[in-house]
Amino acid sequence: MKVDYPWLNKAWRFLVDSEGKNRLSQAYLFKAQEKLGTETLIDKFALGLICEKEGLDACGICKNCALVNAKSFPDLKRIELSEKQNVIPVEAIRDLISFFSTKPAFGGRKIAIINPVENLNFFAANALLKIIEEPPEHSFFLLNWETPRPVPRTLTSRCTQISIPSPSRESSLRWLVSRGVNIEEFNEDDSLLAGSPVEILFQVQNKHPSLYILKDVFGDILTLSSGQKNIIKLSEKYQSINPITLLTSLELLCHTLSNIKFSHLPRKLFLSKTQNLNLQRLANNLDLTNVLEFNSYLLDIKSKCLTSDGIKCSDFIETLFFKLMVVLESEYNEK
Ligand SMILES: [Zn+2]
Repeated sequence: MKVDYPWLNKAWRFLVDSEGKNRLSQAYLFKAQEKLGTETLIDKFALGLICEKEGLDACGICKNCALVNAKSFPDLKRIELSEKQNVIPVEAIRDLISFFSTKPAFGGRKIAIINPVENLNFFAANALLKIIEEPPEHSFFLLNWETPRPVPRTLTSRCTQISIPSPSRESSLRWLVSRGVNIEEFNEDDSLLAGSPVEILFQVQNKHPSLYILKDVFGDILTLSSGQKNIIKLSEKYQSINPITLLTSLELLCHTLSNIKFSHLPRKLFLSKTQNLNLQRLANNLDLTNVLEFNSYLLDIKSKCLTSDGIKCSDFIETLFFKLMVVLESEYNEK
């Protein structure tokens, strides 16, 4: 299992060093922005703990390594979100308690990976806290925490925290270039926002439609909000694009505005520094209720587009931009 995300190297060296000094903790909390590949680091660490070979660099060929790679190693338990639920319920932690109630089947360790830990519901987090407070012998808890969503302090204080710093703009660019990404394509004005290069690579490789028009839409909305653009002209510009692409971009705009409202800076977007500042200023002056209402209007049209054939942007775009103007109005009136 190869970890080729340079921003994880320091955390890995820390783990290897602790193991070398025989000072591993039983509970680790890996704290990072989402989509930085932290799961890869956690998997590598778990494999290193499980491998029959000494040290944390797993051999990949022993019986334990083979079983882990075949996803049938009995002393490793993963607790993850199911597709149906957006919280991890207390039952999952009850399973974990029964998992730890027996001795390891192979060698000396039992390992639980919980990902993402901020999705444990209240009861699950409490139940987990109880086991971590008095961890069974030979147990290891590896928790993945995707910030900025909160995790109870009682839980974080019981774990060794490993903070993964988000890569700088320069190292993101270097990494993207090393992956064969042509950064010129979307970087003409020094505008790559700090964020997850892994996500950017994914979007580029999958030709994510939003990526290419997003910058345009955001730029236009910002000029619209400052009263510099005419709705009719703007509607003409977008009337022939795929309606789902436009709606998805606008949804992302609403999402970003709400995030900024809660002081989370937008990430994973390609905006210039000025656009970014304008977006923050815009968000701070908006009424969140209006943004959410507009978002549900978007979802409404989207579901119509998905369930009936032949709906084009030109069928709804003027109404949509007028509604958007209403959302932007408080900001607009200040001019
Ligand atoms: Zn091995």
